[in-house]
Amino acid sequence: MPVPKIGIIGAGPAGLTLARLLQQNSILCTVYEAEASRENRNQGGTLDLHPEGGQLALKEAGLLSEFHKHSRPEGEASKILKYDGKVLWDDNVMEPWRPTAEGEQERPEIDRIVLRDMLIDSLEKRTVQWGKKVLGVAEDETTKGKFHVSFADGSIETGFDLIVGADGAWSKVRSLLTTEKPFYAGITAIELWAVDADNANPLVSKFVGQGSMFMFDEGRSIMCQRQGSGAIRTYACVRKPETWVEDCDIDWTGADARERLVKEYFDDCGEDLKRAILESRDELIPRKCWMMPVGVKWESRPGVTLLGDAAHLMTPFAGVGVNVAMTDALDLAKAIIAKKDSFTAKFMSDKNNIALAIEQYEKSMLERAEKYATKTMHGMKGHFSATGSDERAGKIQKGYNMVKARELKQKGA
Ligand SMILES: Cc1cc2nc3c(=O)[nH]c(=O)nc-3n(C[C@H](O)[C@H](O)[C@H](O)COP(=O)(O)OP(=O)(O)OC[C@H]3O[C@@H](n4cnc5c(N)ncnc54)[C@H](O)[C@@H]3O)c2cc1C
Repeated sequence: MPVPKIGIIGAGPAGLTLARLLQQNSILCTVYEAEASRENRNQGGTLDLHPEGGQLALKEAGLLSEFHKHSRPEGEASKILKYDGKVLWDDNVMEPWRPTAEGEQERPEIDRIVLRDMLIDSLEKRTVQWGKKVLGVAEDETTKGKFHVSFADGSIETGFDLIVGADGAWSKVRSLLTTEKPFYAGITAIELWAVDADNANPLVSKFVGQGSMFMFDEGRSIMCQRQGSGAIRTYACVRKPETWVEDCDIDWTGADARERLVKEYFDDCGEDLKRAILESRDELIPRKCWMMPVGVKWESRPGVTLLGDAAHLMTPFAGVGVNVAMTDALDLAKAIIAKKDSFTAKFMSDKNNIALAIEQYEKSMLERAEKYATKTMHGMKGHFSATGSDERAGKIQKGYNMVKARELKQKGA
C-alpha cells in the first residue's frame, strides 16, 4: 500500500501529540528534534491543560488517564495581589471550590517535562530522531510535490509527501508558507528560579502557595508558579523596549542583578513580592517575549503545514499556547486520518489527499489562532495595567459565585 512519507519537525507538545494520534491510526511518521536527547532537562515550567484543549487531544490519544496520574489539580490554586502586597484573592486559604468532575472546568497543571515524557513513551521506538536540527526544508526541483529536509549534521532526508513544522517560535518551515515573522511584543520577563523553595526559601514557598501568584500593575507584573518538583519559578516582567536587557545598566550575570532589578522597578512593592525576586537565586534568565501578528493567514500549499507556536506564536499572557498547539495536532490528525482510506484510491493521488487535508485543517486552525491570539492580546493588556489585579480577582470571584450558586441549586433540587 502506498503510504505518504510524513516528517514532523519538533518534538514539542504539538509535534508529539500529532505523532501519537497518527500512529494510533497506523499512519507512519518520523519526528525530527534538534535537542540531543530526551534527557535534556532545561524544559522547566508547568502548563495547565484545558478540558476543551490539551485534555481533549490527550483523550483522543488515549492518554487522559495517564495525564490525570501526573497532573496536579492543586496547581490551579491562584493568589492575586496588588503591587503593594494587598491580597485580593487566595485559593490557598479557602475550601477547594473548583469543579472536579471530568468535563467540568478543571485545568490541572502538568510539568512540561512530564507531559513530554508521557507523549514520547506513547510512541513507537525510534519515532523521535534526536539531534536532528533542521536547517531548511525545500520542495524538490525534479519531483514536484516531494520535499527534502536539510539538517545541521550535514545529512539530507528526501521524499517527504508532508512536512509538518511543529518547531516552535523560530520555525524553519514557516518561510515556505508566509513571510511573516515573530516580532518583539514589548515585554521582557526576567525568569528566576528557587529550586528547593520549601527548604531553602520557606517564606517564599508559603507566600506562593500550591499554584500560582500574580501581581499585575501598570507596565510591570510579577508571577510565581510552583512546579511539580517543588521549585518555584518567578517571572518579573516589565514593559520596555526590545533592547532594554542590553541597555538598562543591570549586569544580569552579576551577583547584585536581583537587588538592582527590585530597586529600580519594584521598590514600592510589598515585601513578599520583593522577596520572591530577591530569594530566587538559583538561576536568572532574561527572556524577551515574541509573538506572530494576530490573524496571520496564508494560502494553503500542498505538502507543508504548521502547528502550534510555529503557526501562531503568542505571548504567555493568556496561558493558552499549549492548548491551542495540541488542538491543532488533533485537528490535523483528524483531517489526515479522514483521508487515510483513499491514500490507495486510484482516482486520487496521495498528494491530492494530503492537500485537501491541509486545506481543511488550516481553515479551522487559522481561525482558532486568531481567536486565541486576540484573547492573548487582551490578557497582555491586563497583565500590565494598574487595574489588572482587580480585574483578574473579579473574574475569579465571578467564577466562584457561579460554582457556589450551582452547588446550592443542586442541593435544593
Ligand atoms: C514562560 C511561558 C509560559 C507558558 N505557559 C503556558 C501555560 O500555562 N499554558 C499554555 O497553554 N501555554 C503556555 N505557554 C505556551 C506554550 O509553552 C507553547 O505554546 C507550547 O509549548 C507550544 O508547543 P509547540 O509544540 O508548538 O512548540 P515548542 O514547545 O516550542 O516545541 C518546539 C520543538 O521544536 C524543536 N525545534 C525547534 N527548532 C528546531 C529545528 N530547527 N529543528 C528541529 N527541532 C526544532 C524544539 O527543540 C522543541 O522541542 C507558555 C510559554 C512560555 C514561554
